[in-house]
Amino acid sequence: MAKNRVLIVEDEHDIAGLIKHTIERSGDAVAEIVNSGDAALQAVGIQPPDLIILDLNLPVVSGVEVCRILRSRSDARHVPIIMLTARTGENDRVAGLELGADDYVTKPFSPRELSARVKALLRRTAKAAELPAVVYQGTHLVADFDAVAVSVKGEAIRLTRREFELLRYLVQNKNRVVSRDRLLERVWGYDRLVETRSVDVHVGRLRGKLGDAGRQIETVVGLGYRFID
Ligand code: CA
Repeated sequence: MAKNRVLIVEDEHDIAGLIKHTIERSGDAVAEIVNSGDAALQAVGIQPPDLIILDLNLPVVSGVEVCRILRSRSDARHVPIIMLTARTGENDRVAGLELGADDYVTKPFSPRELSARVKALLRRTAKAAELPAVVYQGTHLVADFDAVAVSVKGEAIRLTRREFELLRYLVQNKNRVVSRDRLLERVWGYDRLVETRSVDVHVGRLRGKLGDAGRQIETVVGLGYRFID
């Protein structure tokens, strides 16, 4: 099996070295170190890694900015990101998660914890890659995301592009709660003028169009939505 490639973005050499050692010790991953946001963006452009460990406290281009840029790029949108944050950097942490980082570890971190997070995230990504949600087949709903064809009880349903993307994202994350913020970010992109309320409006419309299958989209009060398989 090919080793996982991890990109470490950290300007402090000692810490970067410790992370590299931690990750490579298990024997199933190799790590590359870059020490600036610029270098990270470049490295990802050459070959996207399987996972990025991103320190938020970087000179010139901050980690949050790097995260934002990566999530807007088609070659890096799906690469899992673990942020390294200072205990005091709650705002950065929240910003990073809102921008689509997958997890965070607070400095000073224990190598064991970091290693466990990395493994869990790589496992999750590998699983998702094995089963691409190209076609979903439920009791009433059949959605072919490649062919952009959705039907309920054999009848074709016309969805707007946004409704289609919304359905796709919910199905890809089936049985998991997806927050409104995450939907906004993944389905609407970075248009900050859109309000979370409009997510509710679109979900409502999508549900209506899906008829009996609409019940598969659950509202999780205070959290967001969940597609039930
Ligand atoms: Ca740093």
